[in-house]
Amino acid sequence: MKCEKHLEREAIGVCANCGKAICAECRVNIEGKNYCKDCVCELFEEEKKADLKLVMKKFDITLFIGPALAIIASFLPWVTVQILGITKDINAFYS
Ligand SMILES: [Zn+2]
Ligand SMILES: [Zn+2]
Repeated sequence: MKCEKHLEREAIGVCANCGKAICAECRVNIEGKNYCKDCVCELFEEEKKADLKLVMKKFDITLFIGPALAIIASFLPWVTVQILGITKDINAFYS
């Protein structure tokens, strides 16, 4: 049996995912199983996408909107007082 990519090379096994014959160079060993490089790339891409989804889930924006609004709301009276205070000062300065 020859490697699918390197026809001159003898395959040392088959990919556990797609079943293609793979040589020592094409073989990627993951958790004791042989995979071809194409499958590893594919699996890795899928894993990355899954990770991204998981991250998006973890940082669910709705979880932040509530507390953020509460913080803003709690600061609003203070901000208003500051702004009013400053304008009062300015008015006092010019009068
Ligand atoms: Zn494969
Ligand atoms: Zn090969």
